[in-house]
Amino acid sequence: MVSETTGLVPQDLHIHTTFSSDDGAVVPEQTVELVDRYRYAERMGISDHMEYVLGEQFDCYRRTLESHNFYVGTEVSGWSWVREALGLDANYYVYHCRDRAEDYRGAELLLSSGKPVIVAHPNALGTDLARVDPQCLIEINNRYVWRDDSWRELSGYRDRFRFVVGSDAHQPHWLNQTIARRVMAELGLTEALLFPVNLPAEDAVSL
Ligand SMILES: [Zn+2]
Ligand SMILES: [Zn+2]
Repeated sequence: MVSETTGLVPQDLHIHTTFSSDDGAVVPEQTVELVDRYRYAERMGISDHMEYVLGEQFDCYRRTLESHNFYVGTEVSGWSWVREALGLDANYYVYHCRDRAEDYRGAELLLSSGKPVIVAHPNALGTDLARVDPQCLIEINNRYVWRDDSWRELSGYRDRFRFVVGSDAHQPHWLNQTIARRVMAELGLTEALLFPVNLPAEDAVSL
């Protein structure tokens, strides 16, 4: 679970910061700077809710993340946001796919960008994975995966999908993936690593 070389987990692409300004779970201390200070994954991306980083704000969002050497993601809440999402200069999408035909279509449309599309916390949204395009990645989400037993069903999809682990951190003490990684190990799934390591230069020397 943790690299012997770096002491870090391999990847976390689902992290929120104060850019998600109206998300009541985000605390004021959860700044991009704080997440950078407490890096715990070899590959890290920030994925604030798209509705809070739209328009002119997106450029500031992207530049801030890049200045801290984070990949630029955004969390897209279903079909109605997909067309606008396709116009954003993001590296990847974290996607809310509820159990309705237009949301499954939305995932396919996002895939047409050629960028990774991570289906977020399917158990929290009632996503029917049998209807999700197999090019999507399925997230094992540390915030939600323990809330029911449906994670056991993921083993039936091991040949259909690739999987990633996400913290969905909204607060500094959520910056970990302890339960999600245990679930991943119990299921015997391998994590898909989507990007090169992006540790800051001084930390990467020991790699
Ligand atoms: Zn979400
Ligand atoms: Zn989220």
